[in-house]
Amino acid sequence: MIRVDRGAEPSSLRASRAWRLARAVLARGAGDDVVFSGYDTDDTRRLLYARQHEKCAYCEMQAQMAGQPIEHFRPKAHAVRAVTGQGPKDDDRYWWLAWTWDNLFFACVSCNSPSRKGNRFPLAPGAEPCAEGPASARLAPSVPRDERAQFVDPGFDDPLDHIEFVREADGWVPTGRDGDERGRDTVAGFHLDDRDGLLGKYTDHVALIVEPKLTPVRDAIEVGDRAALDTAWRRAMASLLMNPRAGFRALSFDVIAAEFPADVRAAHGLTLSRPGAPAPPERAPVDDAPVELQGLPDDVIWAVRAIGPSNSAGYGDRRDSAVEALCAHAPKTEDELVALTGKSVGVIRTALDRLVPGERLERRDGRYRLPRTRGGSR
Ligand SMILES: [Zn+2]
Repeated sequence: MIRVDRGAEPSSLRASRAWRLARAVLARGAGDDVVFSGYDTDDTRRLLYARQHEKCAYCEMQAQMAGQPIEHFRPKAHAVRAVTGQGPKDDDRYWWLAWTWDNLFFACVSCNSPSRKGNRFPLAPGAEPCAEGPASARLAPSVPRDERAQFVDPGFDDPLDHIEFVREADGWVPTGRDGDERGRDTVAGFHLDDRDGLLGKYTDHVALIVEPKLTPVRDAIEVGDRAALDTAWRRAMASLLMNPRAGFRALSFDVIAAEFPADVRAAHGLTLSRPGAPAPPERAPVDDAPVELQGLPDDVIWAVRAIGPSNSAGYGDRRDSAVEALCAHAPKTEDELVALTGKSVGVIRTALDRLVPGERLERRDGRYRLPRTRGGSR
C-alpha cells in the first residue's frame, strides 16, 4: 500500500452530491433508509482509476477499471468496529460521506469483499466516533480527520510509515513497521498477508521483477564499477519505485532497503527514493450550496437541494416541499422562488398551483406565505 493523490473532485460527483446528500439528510431525519447511489459517476471512476495508476488502493494489484467497486474508506453504512469484521456495527455512520471525494477509492473486488476490508472500520483504542451527519448544508462534508481511524488511510497517511514487508522463511510478508499497531491491524483487516493469494504474488514480484533489477547493482558493487553502479541503481529506482504504474511499490521499497541497508547505501552514495504521492495539501472546504441560498437556515437549504432533477423519484413532492419551506421561512414572490430554487417559472407555478388550493400556502400582497390558520402571520 502506498499513498495516493486523488487530486480535485470531478464536477459530476459534486452535482450528484448536491441533491442526493440533501435527500439522505431528510431521510435520516424521517427515519427512512438512505438511498446510496450516484457516487459512482463515470468521471469519479475514471479519475480515481487514473490517479491510482490503475491499481487497487489497498493491495496495489493492477485491476481492470470496469467491474471493480468504488470503495468507501469510511463505510457508507454499518461500520463494523472490529479489525476481524466480527463485532458491533455502527448503523449511524458514515452515510453522509457516501459522496465525499476524500472518502472514495478505486479498489479491487477482493479487497472490497466483506471477508476483507468490506465495511470494517475500527477506531483507535479509546477513540470516540465523530458526530453524526454533515456539519452544515453549505459545505461539502469532509472526512473527520480528528476521528482516530485504526486503519491506515492511503489517501492521507503514508502507508510506508505504518506497514513494512519483512522476509520470512516462506517469502515477504507485510506487518506493522517497528510494531506499528495501525499497520499491523490494516494488514490483518485487509488480509494483505493472505497466505493463499497475495503472498504468492509478492514472491513472484520479487523474483521476476525486483531481483533482475538488483542483480546489476550487486555486480557493479562487487567489481567496483562506479559508473555501472550509478546506472544500475538509477534504473532500479526508476522502474521499481518512481514509475507510478509499477506494481507493489511498497514491497519493492522494503526489499531494496533490506538488501541494501542504510550503511551499504551510505558507503556507495546510493539514495533510496520513497515511492508514493507526497503529503496531500490541506483541501479548502467545497462550497456546496448555491450562493442564492447562503443566508438561509440549514433545513431550508436541505429542502431546496433535495428537489433534485426532474426525472428523480418523488420530484414533484420534493419541489412542493421546498417551495413551502422557503415561503415558511419568509414570504416570497414568484420571482424570488425562481431565483432561490434555480427552477423555471413554469416549475414554480406548478408547485404554487398545488400548494395554494391545497391551503399549504396563501398569496397576499404578491407574496406567498403560510396561511394565517397555520400561524403564518408574517
Ligand atoms: Zn485490492
